[in-house]
Amino acid sequence: MATTLYAIALGANRYGRHGRPSAAIVAALAAIGGVEAVSPIIASAPIGPSTRMFANAAALIRSDEPPPALLARLKAIERRMGRRPGIRWGARPIDLDIILWSGGPWRTRTLTIPHPAFRDRRFVLGPLARIAARWRDPISGLRVRHLLSQVDRRRPRT
Ligand code: AMP
Repeated sequence: MATTLYAIALGANRYGRHGRPSAAIVAALAAIGGVEAVSPIIASAPIGPSTRMFANAAALIRSDEPPPALLARLKAIERRMGRRPGIRWGARPIDLDIILWSGGPWRTRTLTIPHPAFRDRRFVLGPLARIAARWRDPISGLRVRHLLSQVDRRRPRT
């Protein structure tokens, strides 16, 4: 069995070739493979100019790939599922981010793990806490469930 564990965030906010956003999340998980745990799929309000609701989930993935190889594969899955590059916050059939991995911090020009924004995103931390509440962020030293309660204290309604 692969020894490296990744925490992946999945988001979708428009109907793509797989139908509803939640179906896109299920299809993306099947494409990624190595799924060890999946959170419930939640609905959350969009950030930025998009107006439709997002579907969000988190998954734990086992893989032998180093981070750049997994990122390349996630981007290929995004493209295959109909994502067009360039529209940063636009409606998208699927968005796949690497949030944490078992190897600690990773930083290159194109890839930063832990994901730089995940500590502020309830739509990432909420699902992630359902499957990896005790996973410790190597930068802040705080567990996922602690990061989630921090976000909830700052913005209790989102
Ligand atoms: P996004 O708009 O979320 O699809 O992110 C676009 C770019 O962010 C990707 O092309 C990656 O090169 C870069 N990136 C940096 N860190 C990460 C990460 N932890 N997970 C996913 N993408 C990342």
